Amino acid sequence: MSFLLPIAKWIAKSDRQHETAPRSKAQPTVEWQVNGLCNYDCTYCIQSRKSRVGYPDTATIDAIVGGLGTLPGVWEVKMSGGEVFAFKGFIDHVVPQMMHRTQHVISVLTNFSAPIHVLRRFSELTGSRLRITSASFHPDTAKLDEFLAKAIEYRECRESNNPNSSFVVNVVLVPGSVSHHFRYRDALNDAGLRYFPQLMKIRGGVYPYDDSEIAMIAEITGGSCNPREVNRAPNYQGFFCEAGMSYFIVDQKGEAYTCRTAKKYSGVDDAFAPDEDDDAVNGQDDFKVKARLGSFVRGDFQLFREGGLCPYSICPCTVPANRGIVHLPPHTKIPTEEEFDA
Ligand code: SF4
Ligand code: SF4
Repeated sequence: MSFLLPIAKWIAKSDRQHETAPRSKAQPTVEWQVNGLCNYDCTYCIQSRKSRVGYPDTATIDAIVGGLGTLPGVWEVKMSGGEVFAFKGFIDHVVPQMMHRTQHVISVLTNFSAPIHVLRRFSELTGSRLRITSASFHPDTAKLDEFLAKAIEYRECRESNNPNSSFVVNVVLVPGSVSHHFRYRDALNDAGLRYFPQLMKIRGGVYPYDDSEIAMIAEITGGSCNPREVNRAPNYQGFFCEAGMSYFIVDQKGEAYTCRTAKKYSGVDDAFAPDEDDDAVNGQDDFKVKARLGSFVRGDFQLFREGGLCPYSICPCTVPANRGIVHLPPHTKIPTEEEFDA
């Protein structure tokens, strides 16, 4: 029940349009889930199989790109799936449209399974506007030596075409396989690549690792809680957050939400079907409305004019923290613009 008060405060604050918000130092960021389709089937995927399907038609892509093009200033548009490169229209239509019709910088989250000639094409198309390639290594499907070889080849492409870009390798700390991460970390670091471990998320929070794996995770991460170094899916409930104002997500149909967790509690995300026993979910109709920012396809998308206090008990993605969207306490290291790349 402690959940309800922050929700009410956040709704009330978002309605008070003229109240002065804390000064923003955020990098405005949108996460566009371009397509649901994925060519992998990871056991720990937080997206349900049912939701890992589909891709947008040309009219939907054009409507979303057109809407993104009207955002004020330069935003970081981080594109993900499913797996974006598994959708042919991504490289053939989405990326060229983003480059021609918007002023924004581009980031991508990928399982890095695309052939190197496709990644090279992406590197060429995005040029100086490519910001971050966030490549997930999935040991059940991908081979580490092949992943490393491709990452080194892709680095050469980026050095030529994308001088303002960075590269990070995400690896989920899968229960029962945490010990393998010493090898992953060392191999990536030896190749000059950045290793970024992620605690495994399950419905309701983070997986309850046993004591021996908790100890290994502490050793692997050096005990860090810095969102630049490890994704611990923290709880920022009660912190001021600019989600809805300087940050939002948009799905493959063009529907926009203030953040990933907001989409979960809006009742539309199958992968995170709300827990019917959770008092915080039941009867929160106002809150569900507040999670939605409208649609780029219908043309009723609208940003909030200010942020509010985070009402949620989990922030599953490091993007809001690492872009300054969440106002973290002073002792938390907030990365500079040059530093953030998770
Ligand atoms: S590659 Fe990513 S989206 Fe695809 S199944 Fe694995 S975790 Fe899910
Ligand atoms: S802190 Fe995270 S979960 Fe909370 S409102 Fe902001 S983006 Fe959403």
